[in-house]
Amino acid sequence: MSWYDKAIIYQIYPKSFQDTNNDGIGDLQGIIKHLDYIKDMGFNTIWLNPIFVSPQVDNGYDVSNYFAIDPILGDTNDFSEMIEKAHRLGLHIILDLPINHTSDQHPWFRDAISNSNSIFKDYYIWHDQVDGHEPNNWGSFFGGSVWEKNPNDSKEYYFHLFDKRMPDLNWKNPEVQKSVADIAKFWLEKGVDGFRLDAFIHIAKANLEQNSLLTDQKFPIDDTFYAKLPAVKDYMSGFVKEIKAFKPDAFLFGEAASAKARDAAEYTRPNENVCDVVVNSDNFGEEYETDPDIPKFFQSRKLSLDTLKQTYVTWESVLEKVSLPTLTWGNHDISRVLDRLNLPVENDKVTELLAMMLFLQRGIPVIYYGEEIGMHGLKYKNISDFDDQRALDLINNLRSKSFDDQKILQLLNNQDEMTARGPMQWDTSQYRGFSKKRPWNWAQTDTTSVNQEIKDPNSVMMFYRELLRVKKHECFTSGTYRLLITDPKIYAYLRRTDHNQGLVVINFSDQSKTFELPKGDWSDNLSNEKIQMNDKILKLGPWGCCALESKS
Ligand code: BGC
Repeated sequence: MSWYDKAIIYQIYPKSFQDTNNDGIGDLQGIIKHLDYIKDMGFNTIWLNPIFVSPQVDNGYDVSNYFAIDPILGDTNDFSEMIEKAHRLGLHIILDLPINHTSDQHPWFRDAISNSNSIFKDYYIWHDQVDGHEPNNWGSFFGGSVWEKNPNDSKEYYFHLFDKRMPDLNWKNPEVQKSVADIAKFWLEKGVDGFRLDAFIHIAKANLEQNSLLTDQKFPIDDTFYAKLPAVKDYMSGFVKEIKAFKPDAFLFGEAASAKARDAAEYTRPNENVCDVVVNSDNFGEEYETDPDIPKFFQSRKLSLDTLKQTYVTWESVLEKVSLPTLTWGNHDISRVLDRLNLPVENDKVTELLAMMLFLQRGIPVIYYGEEIGMHGLKYKNISDFDDQRALDLINNLRSKSFDDQKILQLLNNQDEMTARGPMQWDTSQYRGFSKKRPWNWAQTDTTSVNQEIKDPNSVMMFYRELLRVKKHECFTSGTYRLLITDPKIYAYLRRTDHNQGLVVINFSDQSKTFELPKGDWSDNLSNEKIQMNDKILKLGPWGCCALESKS
């Protein structure tokens, strides 16, 4: 067993966590300031969104120097202080490593476009124009074509899956694999405990001389040509072998946004040198409204217990003998869980139920900063407050279909990722204790705050703290998982080891429910209400949940 099999991850968006120099942007000193808080809450691992030098076109995912900290966040001394203090507290730190692309300001790319004999030319993906236009019709995830003209040679294009200022690396080139491994080793030497490997499922591309057959857009987004291709595993294996030879217990946490359970198994098989676990982005048990005029990302959705059970039982069984699933309600790429899901009722009890139902399953909890206090996302006043590319495309698209601005604003406030990237709410002061200056990303917030919740034994924050304590019990960390047969409105699962067993029962309804207990001498660990139980029957009120334990 490795340390990361027991990881409980806290995801921090560094620009939005705590500003200590009052420039409106969070920084590493801000993270240092709250390491004790993170430890006290029960987390043992921190994932930081990218902190390397970057023009910030995509908030740090566009890296221009992988060997230094972006000056808006701090410097190498801050970094060493952060690692040292985190380790002293028993916290692991993993960095987000964008490996699919660099910034167009990276010296490799600058050299490649300005010098046709550059040794870095083959670090990127190029193609000559075809009949005076882009080499194919493939669409970028950030809108438009994946191709952009070389600014110094108008007949030649380079490839970018994301923004045009983020050229894709050519992973076919062994030099690229080696250079990225060198970056990883540099940071491992500085004490980091692993990496989130950003967008790794996209590092292999199909033969470029093919067109997508999709017709929904001029440049359709078509995973067929650039996601989860067989070469991903080949390219990763040399790179990962080097990392693991250097630091065998480095944790490799791969981001595979569109992965299904079988893909996750494929990428996490022990000894195959890809990833230790993968995290995907559509594991949430959501059912979408089907308005064909609205792109899927922005459609209203609601949590369906049936879908959630089906999803998790699939992940749990497909990964059973392979690796640990990741358990998450969200991240920086989607709106916050309480805004996104259109929950039937919204109160602390339901927020606590959501946490318990997910995190006590078999797997690694990944909790997005602020979720542990039940924070909502930012609410912007006007659609003109949104300036990220995805939002701008939506606004143009829906205006052209005569949607009114109020409806568009509502969709953006409920689904756009920028709403989830607001400042952490430490107190109730003007900028919520995040900064004295107006934060870089700011709009209306709710009034939830750490300072208030810490004083209230019944707060969401105190529930999360207890929940993470329970998660560390052997049955909830390493026990097997079994879905129990129940009333459709109940989700119940059993976690079992040789010595003890844990039982989680969730009543996802506005009616009281009874539940017949499996054999055992059950005692109550944690619940979001006062539960009634005898040795056979458990009674839960509306939206009640509890975690019980017994000897096996
Ligand atoms: C990150 C995004 C980022 C993209 C490009 C994703 O997987 O989570 O925030 O825009 O990679 O690096």
